[in-house]
Amino acid sequence: MKRKTTIIFTAAILACGFIFTSCKSEAEKNKCEITISFDGEEVSGTCVYDFYDEEFLTSDKPDREESSIYPRSLEFFLPANAYKKDAKNPPADKSDSFAYPNGFSEGSIKINSVKVNGETADNALIDEDLTTLCVSMKNYSPQKTTVEIDFTTVVPDSLLRLGKNGDKVNLGDFYPLVSVKEEKGYYKSTYSKFGDPYYTDLFDYKVSITLPSEYVVASSGTPTSTVVDGFKTTYSYAAENCRHFAFVLGKNFIVDEKKTENGLIALYSDKKEQETLDLIADVIKYFSETFGPYPYETFSVAITGFKEGGMEYTGLCFISDALSDEQKKLAIAHETAHEWWYSAVGNDQIASAYLDEGLCEYSTYLYFSARGDQQTADRIISSAKSAYKSFYDLSSVLSGKADTSMNRPLGKFSSDYEYVNVAYNKSLLAFYEYEKATGRNKTIKGLKKYYEKNKFAFATLDLLTDSLGLKDFFKSYVEGSVLI
Ligand SMILES: [Zn+2]
Repeated sequence: MKRKTTIIFTAAILACGFIFTSCKSEAEKNKCEITISFDGEEVSGTCVYDFYDEEFLTSDKPDREESSIYPRSLEFFLPANAYKKDAKNPPADKSDSFAYPNGFSEGSIKINSVKVNGETADNALIDEDLTTLCVSMKNYSPQKTTVEIDFTTVVPDSLLRLGKNGDKVNLGDFYPLVSVKEEKGYYKSTYSKFGDPYYTDLFDYKVSITLPSEYVVASSGTPTSTVVDGFKTTYSYAAENCRHFAFVLGKNFIVDEKKTENGLIALYSDKKEQETLDLIADVIKYFSETFGPYPYETFSVAITGFKEGGMEYTGLCFISDALSDEQKKLAIAHETAHEWWYSAVGNDQIASAYLDEGLCEYSTYLYFSARGDQQTADRIISSAKSAYKSFYDLSSVLSGKADTSMNRPLGKFSSDYEYVNVAYNKSLLAFYEYEKATGRNKTIKGLKKYYEKNKFAFATLDLLTDSLGLKDFFKSYVEGSVLI
């Protein structure tokens, strides 16, 4: 995500992570097929997951040592339930007029049925916000298990990841996401007012959406078919190695497309924006040449009502329609960089947000510097430095000691202010200082290696420093011992 409020004061760093997925053959790759319709208010349909991965299916141990409902289970994160009116961990305060300009509006997801290998399965919504769906896997098959979830998601009026705003509809957070399984059990995701509360594995997606034909659809994935039936249209997509699928719907979108050597680039905006399209194409070109080839066939940018500056999904990003031209170009570079750092090279965005956010900030700095806009590049660094120093001084005065450790889950940050300064600004400064110490060529070479080695897997601080070296240097930033 790109913070609107920190466009001028941005910076950050990297590090950390955990699990990883080794490259799988096509036959073993887990799949997700989503078939939904949207009627202007609700998304309803099914999400069918096919699991071939033995790690998901062959454990004899309970998945949660203490709170297992079912002896063997699969768990899913339901971010849409964080939009319920009584949610303890909501995406925004109900009184937040930036999130809810027309007053609070409730969103939710209802699970209508769950089937495992064709049979109705026991399931339960757990956790205080009902954001975890626990599904009994008593009739799983070690070779392949299919979980079919029928759901209905209510889309609130909001400028959030899930929200209707004017003639636009942001459709992030609308479907159940599979929780990542670690040694101790499923990773529990909790929604948060700041940061990106996701830790998601890769699936090969097939998605279709049927909706009133007046909507133009910006989407993750590559379009595979369009079928018009009366007043409704069904759009279908395929997305391999997709971490998170999303849409933005708009009734007045003008679509500008550009075929490039790095894939099809599309801009969805209410007005023609040739310069913006050219910028997106150039950013993709630069990152492809610098870090390694763009990992997908298409990349779409949708200009929409959004509380923050932007939000990344695989092959798609939201960019707020309220940004200045300067803020917009920084947000586009940042969100585009997330296709490399978050989508292709994944990480736990909850516990190690600095890994992707800091690298995206540094990538933004690199882009403007490499393209000769040193003024913008320098401003990115100086803003990050001054914002971080102010945060450090203020926190030291208020709390006696500023907590500058970077490897903390979102819930361990005391405020958005602290999170932005630590996960974005400090992380950017770590990469920047690394470049100053080792030189830009070596930095780029290291990042190229990091991308190549960790593409379509999960990265960690150790894996980052395996490629970049200077492990103690990065650790001193991440653990909070370095003085900036
Ligand atoms: Zn970001």
